[in-house]
Amino acid sequence: MKNWGFKISQPRVLDLDNADLDMYNKLIEKVPSAHRCLMCGGCTATCSANEHTNFNFRNCHLMFRRGQFDGLADELDKCMLCGKCKLVCPRGVNTRAIIYNMRIVLSDMNYKKIES
Ligand code: SF4
Ligand code: SF4
Repeated sequence: MKNWGFKISQPRVLDLDNADLDMYNKLIEKVPSAHRCLMCGGCTATCSANEHTNFNFRNCHLMFRRGQFDGLADELDKCMLCGKCKLVCPRGVNTRAIIYNMRIVLSDMNYKKIES
């Protein structure tokens, strides 16, 4: 087969019937403002951690919302909980609380080993 130097990306189809949305509902109970996020990315544009890592709150929030937890706990560890993203959010989303509570939920689910 001829090598064209590029390939077609695999489609990322979300199977909402099998997505675990229970965890996101738990998060909404703790941080109701999470519902208001429109995934604009403004928080990521100003993120302190994003200046030094590839941390992306919008992606993490979207993964959690979709029930895609693999690797998420490690990603969330890159956030310093400084709260700068919360200040710029046009929708008044409590981003810091979302990150904090996503960490707790993932720990409860043993998606990350809790260090003693
Ligand atoms: S948390 Fe706010 S700034 Fe960040 S993507 Fe959602 S709406 Fe935009
Ligand atoms: S709280 Fe986390 S996500 Fe928000 S600006 Fe600070 S490092 Fe970035």
